[in-house]
Amino acid sequence: MPNHKQLLVANWKMAMPINQALEFIHSFSCSDFLDSNTKMVIAPSFVTLSSLRENISQHSLPIALCAQNCASAESGAFTGEVSVSMLQEVGCEFVLIGHSERRTLFGEAEPVLAKKVDLVIKAGLTPIFCIGEPKEVYESGHTSEYLTRQLSPYSPSTPFILAYEPIWSIGTGLIPTDEDLSCTYDTLRSLFPDTPILYGGSVNQENITGLLRHQTVNGFLVGGASLKPDSFRSLFHRMNQPRSHD
Ligand code: PEP
Repeated sequence: MPNHKQLLVANWKMAMPINQALEFIHSFSCSDFLDSNTKMVIAPSFVTLSSLRENISQHSLPIALCAQNCASAESGAFTGEVSVSMLQEVGCEFVLIGHSERRTLFGEAEPVLAKKVDLVIKAGLTPIFCIGEPKEVYESGHTSEYLTRQLSPYSPSTPFILAYEPIWSIGTGLIPTDEDLSCTYDTLRSLFPDTPILYGGSVNQENITGLLRHQTVNGFLVGGASLKPDSFRSLFHRMNQPRSHD
């Protein structure tokens, strides 16, 4: 994993207008990050990226920025789209690609996602590529085959981060059983031995300790529990404590 750090990524989706986003950032101070083994990453809306970049720099906070999406073309006449070079300009280090909401609500399929991954890598940013199965696939025991298909365009040396987010777990309070999560991680690890693999889906203060027992989980992508500074800080601090083994 780059820098040997685990990642805690906040996916703010369409929440957190500028005042709330700045309040969130100002609730952190450098002392929160002392001796931290966890890199904090925020994925805000496009329109707040630039102000957040300025405020993070002014306060010398080690918080990285991630875009929630990008255009699948380098440049051109694409009304409403945001190019990777624009994201680079506002200081993004990461770009989320293929979040299940992009796949299901906006019809983004593997060929377009592969183009985005390629553009992000070429620009020197890191894609956080989201994969995950729907409920019926989980229940039928075919998660590994489903994820393997989603990852078929990529080689083990692709310089990206994976985020395993079961679709049925996002925003529902449900998470996979320990056994199922271990089995899925075994599959992903066998395909991508050196790639950081995050878990996402209803991570919160109650379940993070159990999830951290999975030594192969390199961090978390968090939606709901990332919207309040106190709950996000407590996830961050929990990740900085030694992991217990089963
Ligand atoms: C997400 O949308 O990426 C996510 C993980 O959301 P939540 O934590 O709310 O399930």
